[in-house]
Amino acid sequence: TETGNSKESKDYNLEKDCELRFEIESKSQIKVELKSGFAELYGTELVKSKKYTFYQGAKVAIFTYQGCVINISGSPDVCYIARETPMIQYLNTHSAIEQMRVNAEERETCGPKVMIVGPTDVGKSTLCKILLNYAVRLGHRPILSDLDVGQGNISIPGTIASLLIERPASIEEGFFSQLAPLVIHYGHKTPDFNNELYKICISTLADITLERLNEDKRTLSSGIIINTCGWVKGQGYQHLLHAAKEFKVDVILVLDQERLYNELLRDVDAGCKVVFLPKSGGVVERSQQTRAESRDQRIREYFYGVPLRSPLYPHSIDIKFSDLKLYKIGAPVLPDSCMPLGMKATDNMTKLWPIQPGPSLIHHVLALSFAENPEQDVLKKNVIGFVCVTNVDVERQTITVLSPQPRPLPNVVLLLSELQFIDSH
Ligand code: ATP
Repeated sequence: TETGNSKESKDYNLEKDCELRFEIESKSQIKVELKSGFAELYGTELVKSKKYTFYQGAKVAIFTYQGCVINISGSPDVCYIARETPMIQYLNTHSAIEQMRVNAEERETCGPKVMIVGPTDVGKSTLCKILLNYAVRLGHRPILSDLDVGQGNISIPGTIASLLIERPASIEEGFFSQLAPLVIHYGHKTPDFNNELYKICISTLADITLERLNEDKRTLSSGIIINTCGWVKGQGYQHLLHAAKEFKVDVILVLDQERLYNELLRDVDAGCKVVFLPKSGGVVERSQQTRAESRDQRIREYFYGVPLRSPLYPHSIDIKFSDLKLYKIGAPVLPDSCMPLGMKATDNMTKLWPIQPGPSLIHHVLALSFAENPEQDVLKKNVIGFVCVTNVDVERQTITVLSPQPRPLPNVVLLLSELQFIDSH
């Protein structure tokens, strides 16, 4: 299957329903070109004779329904052709969802709300991408909601968010949109840090996403694809049930785990379909370290963009301590006996606590809230964007923040995130 090879460049002949998988671990670049036939990357079609560049960290599968020839130049660390893939099952799942969209269009009702669940590293995000790409290629405008606070694909870590998808993901850069995402601040990298707060964040995101869905007819019939995090036991499972209820989910796709599939069959409303799907043998496991690095990378990209491709130039802004309206959500749980009468200890976890600025703020991400009245509506509002504290000057009573905007910050409530980013520029 490999012809026309030189040391650096190799042609791969793929038969129909096969995929070429490669990984780049080292600091090298790989160029990929479709020479003949048709091929797609997670549902986005490759343009013939166009050269696509991939960098360190890329884990890629190029699939073909019809057969194709692909040229790879450079030397990936792993590269092979796989004949066994679940792509036909994923395509059939897409067709069933598509039928629901067509019905919704005819009746002018809401399209399918599909939630994808499964343990870590089973290809949940990848399946979301495939289903969204197939939907937009047929002219739909679905919404992606991502409930994964650690490895989400829309905003920075520590948040959950929704994004309207208008065009297929770019081969090299993924989904991007002219429209701003709807982002909810949570402030930690795992849901179990503050389960009470995470639950409220899901309810809020569901509310504003369903509201957004109703704003235009095409999006309404297109529906929502919801990505979730890999915590599927105990309280993690309860969060999945809660999300299914709040988003009024019609279909749950369970990747890889039969136990989870059976639990959901037992526990969700009769109106919600639960479907089991196998994971792809190509999905690559990621270590704790890789996950931490990818969180760091996402925050860096929020401020600095992607170097060489689409760089951004953030600004440094000073803010006086006295001008800061800074809070954090949730404080350590006290025993019930220490609480004022009528208050539960867990209430503390969703309360707003004012923060005195000081040296410990350094490197922390702060979210700018749309809330006008902090005490009342912070938990019900999405956020405008983020800044990162790069310096605290106790003598001058100011903090310096890195901000995507050159303007002084609007006079809004700032919410402290546990997430930190060390600005090495
Ligand atoms: P998480 O545990 O973070 O929720 P996940 O279940 O969403 O993970 P993905 O992010 O979809 O998993 O996939 C993990 C990695 O495997 C990604 O880097 C993805 O690009 C890669 N991957 C997915 N499918 C394939 C495939 N068929 N061949 C090669 N690599 C793949």
